[in-house]
Amino acid sequence: MNSIERNIEEVRNNIIISAKKAGRNPSDTVLIAVSKTKPVEDMLAAYNAGIRDFGENKVQEILEKYDSIPKDARFHMIGHLQKNKVKYIVDKVCLIHSVDSFELAEVIERESLKRNLTTDILIEVNIAGEESKFGVRPEDTLELCQKISKLPHVRVRGLMTVAPYVENPEDNRQYFVGLRQLGIDINSQNIDNIYIEKLSMGMSKDYCIAAEEGAGFVRVGTDIFGERNYNTV
Ligand SMILES: *Cc1c(COP(=O)(O)O)cnc(C)c1O
Repeated sequence: MNSIERNIEEVRNNIIISAKKAGRNPSDTVLIAVSKTKPVEDMLAAYNAGIRDFGENKVQEILEKYDSIPKDARFHMIGHLQKNKVKYIVDKVCLIHSVDSFELAEVIERESLKRNLTTDILIEVNIAGEESKFGVRPEDTLELCQKISKLPHVRVRGLMTVAPYVENPEDNRQYFVGLRQLGIDINSQNIDNIYIEKLSMGMSKDYCIAAEEGAGFVRVGTDIFGERNYNTV
């Protein structure tokens, strides 16, 4: 077993332990291997260890890697998405995690309509209210969902958040609980075409806490592929 395989096995085991601890079904949490900045060879090693979901945060990088990854693997767009780049990826990603404005959703609608697709998205929420973060404010999320619900080729599947950087992952539990509660509140409004089914939350430092609190997706990079070196890409 190479180290990527070993790492994946360890992350998987941790997800199972966390889900069970919380009385959840471990298979309700999908592990996304965040492969940004990492070479295709590393992704293929992850693929061979059973990973089918890859997270990337740059459109260009998805396009570069797309043809080298087996077709039954899925790309998730987890990074900030510029409106003028939507056209390159709507037909290449299974889920856009980072929609935080109606204007972006409208562009996704237009580009999806052109290709006769329905695009699944998550609404990115700045749950901790950090200045530096993308994402809609929690109190504006319902209204954004209501507006997006009118777009026939965009389907809101859930919510996503990037929690603060913390030393102690327990400090982020409140935010994962908060995202889950926000999803419950939105569902209670019974908006046509909107059902918050999946929560995308938890990264290398805190995915165990997120899995306990109901993550439908955890996005793990460093703990699978090792530290990223931004200078070599
Ligand atoms: C890079 C990134 C991750 C993975 O972070 P790690 O700490 O390496 O696990 C998860 N989510 C988003 C949005 C990211 O940009």
